[in-house]
Amino acid sequence: EPGVDDALLDGLNPPQREAVLHRGPALLIVAGAGSGKTRVLTHRIAGLLSTREAWPSQILAITFTNKAAGEMRERVSALIGDEARGMWISTFHSACVRILRREAEQFGFKQSFTIYDSGDTRALVKRLIKDSGSDTLGLTPGGTASKISKAKNDLHDVDSYRETANLSDPREQAFVEIWRRYDHELRRANAFDFDDLIGQVVYLFRAFPVVAALYRKRFRHILVDEYQDTNRAQYALIRELTQGVPAHTLPDQRGEIPGASLTVVGDSDQSIYAFRGADIRNIVEFERDFSDAKVVLLEQNYRSTQHILSAANAVIKHNFDRRDKNLFTTEGDGDMIVGYTGYSGHDEAQFVADEIVSLQTTGMPWSQIAVFYRTNAQTRALEEILIRSAIPYKVIGGTKFYERAEIKDAMAYLVAVANPDDAMSLRRILNVPKRGIGPATEAALQSFADEHDITLRDAMRRVDELGFGPKVTGAIRTLATLLDAHSQAENPDPGSVLADLMGRTGYLDQLRASPDAQDAARAENVEELIAVTREFRKANPNGSLIDFLTEVALVAAADELDDSEGQVSLMTLHTAKGLEFDAVFITGVEEDLLPHRISANEPGGPAEERRLFYVGVTRARKRLYLSLAMTRAQFGEVTVAMPSRFLQEIPAELIDWRQSPGFVNGRGGSQSRALNARQGGARQGALGTGAAPRSMGRYPSLPEGEKKAFPNTIAEVRDNSGLELVPGDRIRHKDFGEGRVSAVTGVGAKRVAEVQFDAVGKKRLLIKIAPIEKL
Ligand code: ATP
Ligand code: MG
Repeated sequence: EPGVDDALLDGLNPPQREAVLHRGPALLIVAGAGSGKTRVLTHRIAGLLSTREAWPSQILAITFTNKAAGEMRERVSALIGDEARGMWISTFHSACVRILRREAEQFGFKQSFTIYDSGDTRALVKRLIKDSGSDTLGLTPGGTASKISKAKNDLHDVDSYRETANLSDPREQAFVEIWRRYDHELRRANAFDFDDLIGQVVYLFRAFPVVAALYRKRFRHILVDEYQDTNRAQYALIRELTQGVPAHTLPDQRGEIPGASLTVVGDSDQSIYAFRGADIRNIVEFERDFSDAKVVLLEQNYRSTQHILSAANAVIKHNFDRRDKNLFTTEGDGDMIVGYTGYSGHDEAQFVADEIVSLQTTGMPWSQIAVFYRTNAQTRALEEILIRSAIPYKVIGGTKFYERAEIKDAMAYLVAVANPDDAMSLRRILNVPKRGIGPATEAALQSFADEHDITLRDAMRRVDELGFGPKVTGAIRTLATLLDAHSQAENPDPGSVLADLMGRTGYLDQLRASPDAQDAARAENVEELIAVTREFRKANPNGSLIDFLTEVALVAAADELDDSEGQVSLMTLHTAKGLEFDAVFITGVEEDLLPHRISANEPGGPAEERRLFYVGVTRARKRLYLSLAMTRAQFGEVTVAMPSRFLQEIPAELIDWRQSPGFVNGRGGSQSRALNARQGGARQGALGTGAAPRSMGRYPSLPEGEKKAFPNTIAEVRDNSGLELVPGDRIRHKDFGEGRVSAVTGVGAKRVAEVQFDAVGKKRLLIKIAPIEKL
């Protein structure tokens, strides 16, 4: 047993210690959420370094986000001090970019290559489809781009794909052709797309054994967090890196070098990226692929209360083909899970906001509260209410700064400076700001480039040969000269480059001079980007323009989280992976939303949705709220929502179902009570219903015996399909009282009445299920 310092083992339970101390070729830590997997990885790295079994440079640790990488680095440093520098702790993508920057010239790329994000990819594919006329075959840019991506993640290249493709199908033939030209364009632009970053490194290692040997020799310990979400290409990369080095490839070595030791940690119950090619087989088959692997199981959870864990266990049990594990904690049951059914998405959002405020008044900081949802469309109602309630919040992965047009323009200027070969960025800025270079001129430049087999930038440099008028020629020459001057500078400061370009091209002045108020905001955004580039240089004194562009290209949604800020975090369930919060709200726990309807007919789809829900539940430390709405405006219409099957999988005694505030006595039978209780939004009357609520606050608990009634399907309770309503009718609503119909829209089961209620104002009701009667 290695002599790992006791201080590093303090605060670890026996199986965690075992995982930290095990030495051998392969170690698999399979464990449920919050059981300390990431913590074990961190301590294991610290142990290897502190005993001098490994130098920092011999360690490669892979995390799922850049933020997680930063945290792991900090924790290792906190455990053993500054010598931790020099380790590679990063995402797969960042590690591969580092390797490619060093080795790209081996296979015909330049070191200054740039990275196409999914938007760039789609734009390029769109142009290729149009040029080839394949749009008539029904090829769409989005569909084609994701098909290429999927194939690349499965480690196909266009030739290997072609061999298995059905080429008698003209669409498939067109697809293969588009892909081939797409790759060709990337190479011409000296660019990689996201999937290439991984795939090309695998290719590099396979094609150049000497290069592979270099990295195999270097990395002696490879550790991978969130292993369940690796795809085939990433798996292949791991296998490449962990192979031994035969003596003959290293003339100066006496004997062969054994493969690196590999540690992977993961939870197959949290595999949620199959749609991006993640392959759950990678974890299931690990033991077979690495036959001498040691397996360690962790079951004690250190994050959540027992009630939260019991709910998580109960739900995930409904998935088959899994290794049974039962998370437990010694910290006690904690509070009950709170459930709430809003009358609409707005009512649900109001509940969320009210509960957030009451959590905050009990001393929980905003930053410890998170709201999750399945689809981005759900944020609209949430944001409206949060703003109205003066709750500071941040949409993680929602405010896409780098996707704004003006930011893309400015970034395209930077890319054009850093990578003169990139035609895409040049095309974007050719006539931005307007300088009289129209589509015909652009096409002429491009065909001149194609004819002479030179880049678009070269064509611009030779503009005199093209015979354009003096104004256009002058404009192109000025732009080319300006860009070239920056391209040739020795490691220029990104901030100065950007400020100079935005100033000299007149881009900023044009925005500032515009009468459009939006343009003023755009100018501010560009200034903000200039500030970002300056900060970058401050943080990385030797950071080059390429480094800056790489960093921007690789940010993931979760990287935007900033714990220090006092804000509630809103994010999709996918983004929530690996994070933890004191209080978590999962909204829209409805059939068709969670599980999402797109997954319903896919093999393994519902099981993956259940894992997604499980990921959400297990992010909560102390408080968990599950909410839904009876009706929801989505997919462009108002639909009736049914409670998610996942709610029924949670033992009823774990959930404290709440009802609307101001809900008054005098209810009918228990069935209609259950219905009423699921309608938020009624705001008449005072608190206190006589139902002896155990919970304080605005939303009292449902009376005992009624909890079991949940969930009834709404259709069982009421069906108003036959009710004929026209504007002017007076109606009575169970909660909202009397009102007058002002409009009726939609047809059949989707008919919606807009009603002006005497007491509570305007409401939109789905006629089919609303508890209303005509007067
Ligand atoms: P996930 O599956 O969500 O990625 P995980 O298994 O990686 O979770 P960690 O994030 O490492 O779990 O740990 C969860 C929480 O429990 C963290 O706050 C961590 O510091 C704490 N923790 C882990 N092990 C222990 C321990 N032995 N004693 C005290 N706290 C622990
Ligand atoms: Mg983790």
